[in-house]
Amino acid sequence: MSETPYYISLEEAITIVQNYAIETQIESIPLDQAYGRILASDMASKVHDPPFDNSSMDGFAVRFEDTKTAPTTLVVVATAQAAASNSSVSISSGEAVRIMTGAPMPEGADAIIPIEACVVEGNSVTLTQPSKPHFIRRCGENIKKGTIGLKQGSYLSPQSISMCATMGYSHLPVVKKLKIGIISTGDELKSPGENLSFGEIYESNSYGLSGLVQALGHTPIRYPAVIDSLTDLREQFNKAASECDLFLTSGGVSMGEWDFVRKLMEEEGEIAFWRVRIRPGSPPLFGHWNGTPMFGLPGNPVSSHVVFRMLVTPYLRYALQTSFPIDRIIHAKLLTDVRSTNDCLTLRRVSLRSTKEGFLADQPKHQGSGNIDSLSSADGLTLLQPGQSGKTGEWIEVLLL
Ligand code: AMP
Ligand code: MG
Repeated sequence: MSETPYYISLEEAITIVQNYAIETQIESIPLDQAYGRILASDMASKVHDPPFDNSSMDGFAVRFEDTKTAPTTLVVVATAQAAASNSSVSISSGEAVRIMTGAPMPEGADAIIPIEACVVEGNSVTLTQPSKPHFIRRCGENIKKGTIGLKQGSYLSPQSISMCATMGYSHLPVVKKLKIGIISTGDELKSPGENLSFGEIYESNSYGLSGLVQALGHTPIRYPAVIDSLTDLREQFNKAASECDLFLTSGGVSMGEWDFVRKLMEEEGEIAFWRVRIRPGSPPLFGHWNGTPMFGLPGNPVSSHVVFRMLVTPYLRYALQTSFPIDRIIHAKLLTDVRSTNDCLTLRRVSLRSTKEGFLADQPKHQGSGNIDSLSSADGLTLLQPGQSGKTGEWIEVLLL
């Protein structure tokens, strides 16, 4: 253990984990299945968007030249709907074409009058206001054919999936989901739904961690909780290392006699670091078991979640060269004093209120690292740097939950 980096800053820990690459593979999937996945290559548009000049309003397509003064009466010569069959529609001087949103601009027309500014009588239309050469969506004005619309590493949100469809892609190359094992440890843990005997608690960490893994677009493999025994842990570690790209444990990494995850990793694994200067969540360890990267997360429910957000997320972000939607940081003004420390990054659970002045952060719940209610009811985690005061009125950074 003497060479293991010990009680290091979060930045140092993140630098170390970045040296442990994860091999990724690429697969092609249909758009319908793309939500939450990570794009594996730059996507260039196959078409101009829009592919042709078209109307952005329901109304009449006219010649700007004919309609600079109002009222003007024109002869309606055709109707243009949003479909390809309109390609032959054209107008000459004194004429107008009734047009629907999205229909190609008739040849000769260079202005659109919205329907609200028109009085229609039989075959003629009177424009009640002078036209302007607008309400036309120009070919390629959103994106030109061949231009990169989405970059490799993009997280596929609903809106970016729409973008891929618009660019003409039915299938997308994405990073194959990583299999991430989750192992809870502790003699006291019972599955929710079972009866609790005295001294037992419901195992909650693996479920929250499983949600976090899914939020990052990967596949959680939640193993049954393991009792505090080196033999049982070893067996489960071997299984997880052979089945997963990465595995997470919760519990058993502090200094106690029963902290067997740490003991096993010390004796038979490879530890890259142990303990990080963040609060809550200072005892995490990171290393390799049989060549598979593993994070030993703390057992306290808030800590396990917080350490995932602070260490596992940056690890995957770097390994996959991506960004995640859960990585948003805002500024907020503290409504109460928040206890900070001189040596740790402090992550308190706060609720946020949006005001004209900006976000206001309150700390309504007690901040014990065993109090999952303080996390589930919170909107964000304070990013109080070591030594930052955390006094009422201070503007601080908050990581959104
Ligand atoms: P440990 O790090 O194993 O000493 O655990 C610290 C605290 O977290 C103890 O109070 C444990 O009972 C609790 N704990 C550990 N693992 C879990 C879990 N999977 N779900 C809920 N609480 C846990
Ligand atoms: Mg334990």
